[in-house]
Amino acid sequence: MAKRVGHGEPLVRIGLDDGGSLEIGASGPYRILDPETGRAVWQTSYEEPIQVVADGAPAGGVARVYRIQVGAFGSAAAAERERDRLRAATGAPGVVRHDPDRGNWRVRLGESSTRSGLNSLLERLRTMGQQELWIAEEAAAEVEGVDLRLVDSRWQSHSTGLTRLAVVPGPRSRIRINGKSYRGIVELRVTSFGTVRAINWVEIESYLLGVVPAELGPEVWPRIEALKAQAVAARTYVWRNKGQFLDEGYDLCATPRCQVYAGADAEHPLSDRAVRETAGQILVWEGRPIIALYTATCGGHTEDGKGIFPEHDEPYLKGVPCRAEEAAMASLRATIAGRSIPKLVDATGKDVTRDWALLAAAGVLSARPPERLNGSLLREWTRVLARLSGLTPAESRVPEVVTLGDAAEMLLADLGWAQRAELLIDTPDLPALLRDSGVEDLPESQQRALAYLASVERLQPFADGKFGATQAPDGARFLPALVHMGETYKAFGLRSAMVAGMGANSLRLFERKNEIRLPFADEPLLFARTSGVPVAVSRLEIWPGDRVRFRTNLAGKIDFLEIEPPVKGASDDRSSTVYSWSVRKTRRQLEATINQRISVGKIKDLEVVHRGVSGRIIELRVIGSKATETVRGFSIRTLLDLREILAVIEIQRDGKGEIEAVVFTGKGWGHGVGLCQVGAYGMAVRGAGYREILAHYYRGAELSQLSDTAP
Ligand SMILES: [Zn+2]
Repeated sequence: MAKRVGHGEPLVRIGLDDGGSLEIGASGPYRILDPETGRAVWQTSYEEPIQVVADGAPAGGVARVYRIQVGAFGSAAAAERERDRLRAATGAPGVVRHDPDRGNWRVRLGESSTRSGLNSLLERLRTMGQQELWIAEEAAAEVEGVDLRLVDSRWQSHSTGLTRLAVVPGPRSRIRINGKSYRGIVELRVTSFGTVRAINWVEIESYLLGVVPAELGPEVWPRIEALKAQAVAARTYVWRNKGQFLDEGYDLCATPRCQVYAGADAEHPLSDRAVRETAGQILVWEGRPIIALYTATCGGHTEDGKGIFPEHDEPYLKGVPCRAEEAAMASLRATIAGRSIPKLVDATGKDVTRDWALLAAAGVLSARPPERLNGSLLREWTRVLARLSGLTPAESRVPEVVTLGDAAEMLLADLGWAQRAELLIDTPDLPALLRDSGVEDLPESQQRALAYLASVERLQPFADGKFGATQAPDGARFLPALVHMGETYKAFGLRSAMVAGMGANSLRLFERKNEIRLPFADEPLLFARTSGVPVAVSRLEIWPGDRVRFRTNLAGKIDFLEIEPPVKGASDDRSSTVYSWSVRKTRRQLEATINQRISVGKIKDLEVVHRGVSGRIIELRVIGSKATETVRGFSIRTLLDLREILAVIEIQRDGKGEIEAVVFTGKGWGHGVGLCQVGAYGMAVRGAGYREILAHYYRGAELSQLSDTAP
């Protein structure tokens, strides 16, 4: 273990972005070379970003072709034998495709420009007893005659006539691809689809600096031993899987298909240290790097490799309990203590506590609003709100405010909104908007002000439908209107973010792409959400993944925070960091995804045939109107489009016994095999070292120094 990795570090080529064009640049001067001759292309050196365009690619994209996948094999020879057998039996064309993700060879039969064009062959294969028939999509043919063109920021352009280019940074400079920076150099090449792909040539140890923090965020999971275990697993993965995408000119992809590589921007001192302190260490079994699968959150027990990936029946990939995980999840939750805010309702019974809190935090109000609002207090409020909104505070004489109508008119006038009420509310609309004969004696300007506030739903009537326009104005009734007006100008500085984790009296947040850390003010104002209604709470439990809205005071401390109502489509962010989940899919939704892969028609039933050691569904029977198919392992997850298959399936049926929807309730996130990332963190929290963590999840694998092995 004492030996160090020698000089001449091995390189790995990582496939990055791919598209019709890419933007390249660097943090300093850089060069673009012809990789064959080493000569500079177009300009001797570049300072500005350059667009690289795939010239001559077909406008409508590349045609697709569909084939039936009949099986996957561990060797090319076995796959070719099966292809020949089926080709002879059916007369259909057959191909063998290497799948770099899974390290296997797949046999595909038939060829059609539509899915339905394969139906008769599907039937034929089924009657022959073939199981697990999937419909696969491929590019119809390689695109030819495409080369690379360079376009600068002044739209000057240069056709290189080349299909490959090398982008080389100057000293101490980093190449940028589509705004992300990378160590090493970058190759650009035309793909078989006629697009341009960037390939990062980088030393393996440098590559790992951009993998470890992307796979196990050091800010959210700040334990060095867990990060070291992740570094060893990631390094082992590279040595085992290097060269998988050789056909496409690189070794590994940069996405979760392989392992996530986020480049130099993602580097973090803690994960850097984890890579450095494990330099050159990998896991081996019988002298060969292991298949170092790892999974985000296993849900309490990992699964045997063969249950999920039948081709990976490895002795070191055995399902193990993961008790550290739940404790790790719990350690990420925290309770914030805030001010206890008495509920505030206005004269009509409307709860305006949140409006009051927001206005108080922003300094618009300094106390609870009075039951009888007068002109000078209303003027104080509008002056502060106008300043916060970037409007000119009203200087006019304070009018006499006796009624609700007086106050509404003054409020709009003070903030320059009187014209809205004049222009946007037509006289004939007044009775329709107000529906209150009691307002008829008011001046029209007051009726308009009330109607405008009612039309934007910021002033509500009493239970009898009357506004009480001639009664004394209740201060609390104007708070929703003040908040509405302020929010129009972003006066309160409200920001949205996702919770990354908790510190001592501070919050770590992802605000768009940035991770920030903000302290809490003394006694912040906190709001939870119960069925869409904000509720003031003095203690708020926050989980990583929660979406929050907050503001900070002049000292940059959070003084107001509320949990945002869950937004449709954003729930995945949240679920990626929680332990359990539930999802309901209608029959139509399921049929749409299932029939893309296996053609079974209308879904009649889903039967769990076998569960693995962890409880994962490892064999599922899909009973359809046209066919019944049995699906195994990871394909089940793809087929059902779930985040895990450690799940319970509950079927809802209608009166006729037809499936209406299926509810999947499960635990975890990922495939469930190998090292559990959250579990590794939990073990590290409990004091385990990285060797112990690796030994737990990869039973029997040995830690080895690269100079001692010949991978
Ligand atoms: Zn786990």
